[in-house]
Amino acid sequence: MQAFSESDTLRQALQEQRAAGRRIALVPTMGNLHGGHLALVEQARQAADFVVTSIFVNPLQFGPGEDLDAYPRSLESDRKLLADHGCDALFLPEVAEMYGDDLATQTRVQVPGISENYCGRSRPGHFDGVATVVSKLFNIVAPDVAFFGLKDYQQFLVIKKMVSDLKMPIHIKGVEIVRADNGLALSSRNNYLSEAEKLQATAIYRTLCATRDAILAGRSDFSELEAAASQALLEAGLRPDYFAICRAADLRPAEPADQALAILAAAWLGRSRLIDNLRFSRHRQTQ
Ligand code: AMP
Repeated sequence: MQAFSESDTLRQALQEQRAAGRRIALVPTMGNLHGGHLALVEQARQAADFVVTSIFVNPLQFGPGEDLDAYPRSLESDRKLLADHGCDALFLPEVAEMYGDDLATQTRVQVPGISENYCGRSRPGHFDGVATVVSKLFNIVAPDVAFFGLKDYQQFLVIKKMVSDLKMPIHIKGVEIVRADNGLALSSRNNYLSEAEKLQATAIYRTLCATRDAILAGRSDFSELEAAASQALLEAGLRPDYFAICRAADLRPAEPADQALAILAAAWLGRSRLIDNLRFSRHRQTQ
């Protein structure tokens, strides 16, 4: 696996791959890789001939007072994991390579609507930062296909909308959430948690499952279900940020007749903000 820190050098190397008829996949990450990221790399490996992974802790997607400086970095183990999982090229730009020397005057990409609720409301500017950096990565790598985790389901929909609106010729693939055996969604931010807190954090997945099961059993009093779920998270010692039953396609609040649903949750545990979700169809299969 070759590592690149400059866009031009990476672009040149990729031009050779493209000229040889190879299909290119991109997996954007912020590093501190775990099984969730590696699932993306493995799917990219299957879908393309040449896999590029980027590791860039993007300052533009962190708000003031967020964990940009504390964000876990583990470059040496990341390199090894990527090489072992068949990644062909690692893109590791410095902040100046991506943004020059003035972040404040950078051109930004904004995806209205889908960006505005949930994480967008709690983290103003977050999705502008994500859409901007992903656009830049797409312009540098020009992948045929790019992989994103469904753990960040709102982010996945933001990227799909951006690609569709801006007519970017890139397939966006979503990869199912990778969880620990106890249900906790893998996340770099789990590194902030003690072992006891990790156990406590499993309440998020349990509450998501209980809410989904109640809906599948026929309940459609969504506001009551959301309130009960927030209460369950509080009782487990978490501070819910939001717990929302939405339409899977556009994250509008779900109506009783909607079939394809997503339940989104974000909650604080100590100084860690954790997110998770479940997507499912209410359509009952007859056997
Ligand atoms: P991050 O490094 O947190 O920006 O994540 C990079 C990519 O990995 C994003 O597309 C995430 O959605 C995805 N990802 C992170 N955690 C998981 C997980 N547990 N399962 C699946 N994908 C994940």
